[in-house]
Amino acid sequence: AWATEKDLEQHLLQIEEAEKRDHRKLGREMDLFHFQEEAPGMVFWHPYGWTIYRQLQNYVREKLEENDYLEINTPQVVDRKLWEASGHWDKYRENMFITEIDEEHANEKRVNALKPMNCPCHVQIYNQGIKSYRDLPLRYAEFGSCHRYEPSGTMHGLMRVRGFTQDDGHIFCTENQIESETEKFIELLSRVYKDLGFESFEIKLSTRPEVRVGSDEVWDKAESALESAIKNLGHPYEIVEGDGAFYGPKLDFVLTDAIGREWQCGTFQADFNLPERLDAEFIGEDGKKHHPVMIHRAVLGSFERFIGILIENYSGKLPLWLAPQQVVVASIVSDANEYVNEIVSKLKEEGIRCESDLRNEKISYKVREHSLKKVPIIFAIGKKEVAENTVSVRRIGNKDSVTKPLSEVIKEISKENSI
Ligand code: ZN
Repeated sequence: AWATEKDLEQHLLQIEEAEKRDHRKLGREMDLFHFQEEAPGMVFWHPYGWTIYRQLQNYVREKLEENDYLEINTPQVVDRKLWEASGHWDKYRENMFITEIDEEHANEKRVNALKPMNCPCHVQIYNQGIKSYRDLPLRYAEFGSCHRYEPSGTMHGLMRVRGFTQDDGHIFCTENQIESETEKFIELLSRVYKDLGFESFEIKLSTRPEVRVGSDEVWDKAESALESAIKNLGHPYEIVEGDGAFYGPKLDFVLTDAIGREWQCGTFQADFNLPERLDAEFIGEDGKKHHPVMIHRAVLGSFERFIGILIENYSGKLPLWLAPQQVVVASIVSDANEYVNEIVSKLKEEGIRCESDLRNEKISYKVREHSLKKVPIIFAIGKKEVAENTVSVRRIGNKDSVTKPLSEVIKEISKENSI
């Protein structure tokens, strides 16, 4: 039910717009990825799609380095013993891919599971060597490839998959460091969302549920640390009473896309339980052993889903730095081929992802085809351009083209490419 005729209209418009932007349709047209029944819910990334993935990953890695995270990598296949210790075997087994390995020579049968999350493995790295309070906060990040069984009816393109990679990270810190870590994280997340085209996001703070671990004193401290951090940054937020995990309070970050849809992507969860379960400790200023607080955090959530959101947000017309093919240089006449090749190598020298199109087709045909693939910039090169050392530039979404000297255009594109 909608309050007004106008609201209903708005809603119908949103549905129509969402269909046009469907990332599964655009993924086919832009040749980005596919799925097939031999691996349901797992992505086959094509060269163009994988280029987007790598661009996004490089960008995130840069931001993590700026924020003093240490990147690590942990095993995919892990013995059930660790999942029993972490509690996943009890609580999460129905969502895990379990593998049986017959190790003939060791005369020992092992039961393993593909990791559904990275947290227990991160604790294993933390636990190597004695940690002191001086080592904290310790921030580990992993592009963690995880697998979770989802019923086949619930899968939906890149938005809901069984195999995915989180931009995962865990911060080991003291209770007193929760506030500053929260602030630091929200600043990082704001920057990333802004760079990726999402200006506004909402924060939901979920507080203690009925059933929980940890003393009320610790919960008081953690909840108010999260809340003060948000307040310090002057960001609006909403409290969701009782919706925290049993192991600690959490923040969820919800962004709004170009057509007004909301997506919950980022998360920041304090955990008082896992460090204790898996014996993570540090020596405090008092010379005694303490358990650190572990914070689970992700900005994008998963690369797969976030790329789906990006494709739909931009209708496939990704910003230049993310576009898999940035420039196509198309010849109008075969006499221009040599100049086209020269332009392509100059662009490549500048690190621009570009290709030539020397096919014996009409330029209007070439432009239509590359526009369907959402190539942001097309150069059309004819006799005139060869003679004058210029290029005719057509931007996606613009009907008109502009003719400019080659060197000027290369400079402009290089500048736009560096964010
Ligand atoms: Zn975690």
